[in-house]
Amino acid sequence: AKETGKARCLVYSPRTSGAPEHDISLEAAMFQAVREGEFLLYYQPIVDAPTRRIQGFETLMRWKHPTLGMVPPVRFIPIAETNGLINLLGAWALKAACVQLKQFEEVSKRPLYISVNISPRQFRNDKFLEVLDHALAFSGMNGSQLVLEITEGTLMIDPVHAESILVKMAERQARIAIDDFGTGYSSLAYLKRFPISVLKIDRAFVKDLPDSPKDGAICNAVLDLAKHLGLSVVAEGVETEAQLDYLDQRGCQYIQGYLTGKPMPAHAAMAALKEDLYA
Ligand code: C2E
Ligand code: CA
Ligand code: CA
Ligand code: CA
Repeated sequence: AKETGKARCLVYSPRTSGAPEHDISLEAAMFQAVREGEFLLYYQPIVDAPTRRIQGFETLMRWKHPTLGMVPPVRFIPIAETNGLINLLGAWALKAACVQLKQFEEVSKRPLYISVNISPRQFRNDKFLEVLDHALAFSGMNGSQLVLEITEGTLMIDPVHAESILVKMAERQARIAIDDFGTGYSSLAYLKRFPISVLKIDRAFVKDLPDSPKDGAICNAVLDLAKHLGLSVVAEGVETEAQLDYLDQRGCQYIQGYLTGKPMPAHAAMAALKEDLYA
């Protein structure tokens, strides 16, 4: 496969493995999409709650199909996970995101970080560390500016293997964020076992704030836990001022959501950084 560090994924089609039981036509279109470079990356700001300054961006993949329009990741990521295309798409996203961060920093004139979603299959792939090292070397970005978002499930499939990978990531100074924290089935024991830096509170616990006492209790408990474990917290899916205020008052340092910035193409993210500069 041939890849570029550019803004679009342009690669030759890899071999498929097995017959998936989902949407065959969408799957066929995906291989075509890879060849045609229809995948792109959007970036959503992650801001400091009290100042609302941009600290980093989460990379979110998009598929712009010529006739279907924007195909949401919830439709194509599971297919890519099943047929293995996620390894190729994920490697491209990681490299392109690192290259993009360098450009963002030329605008921001201060250090930022980039957060990239890593799927379970990608995380378990033999080549994953090579892919990571290549992205860092190619972009010239420091590992400390990279956050890899994984879910509890990814860690639990094979904890022994997960631990060895996480240790190697820590050697590269890359940070690990637990995505959708609290929505999985795992115990909290893994927070002790694995070198984790960030918890991302799922939108499910944020969307009914500040009115829902149960969600309030859950967010408070996560913030308290994080504080005592020395972890940072990002609240996801923040859409209202009231939600931001609630979280800020309880010491949630980082906010991500439509209120402070929707996922956007790189050029719009750079415009947002410029505004940030003169704010
Ligand atoms: P996620 O990692 O939990 O990403 C957050 C999702 O919440 C994104 O949906 C984002 O657009 C959405 N979001 C952010 N702020 C708000 C808000 O204020 N309100 C609401 N209603 N939604 C908000 P998106 O971009 O559709 O991605 C969905 C999922 O697809 C992601 O969930 C992630 O699991 C997966 N995904 C996206 N890009 C990638 C990728 O490059 N690699 C992998 N492996 N998975 C990806
Ligand atoms: Ca994520
Ligand atoms: Ca999430
Ligand atoms: Ca989610």
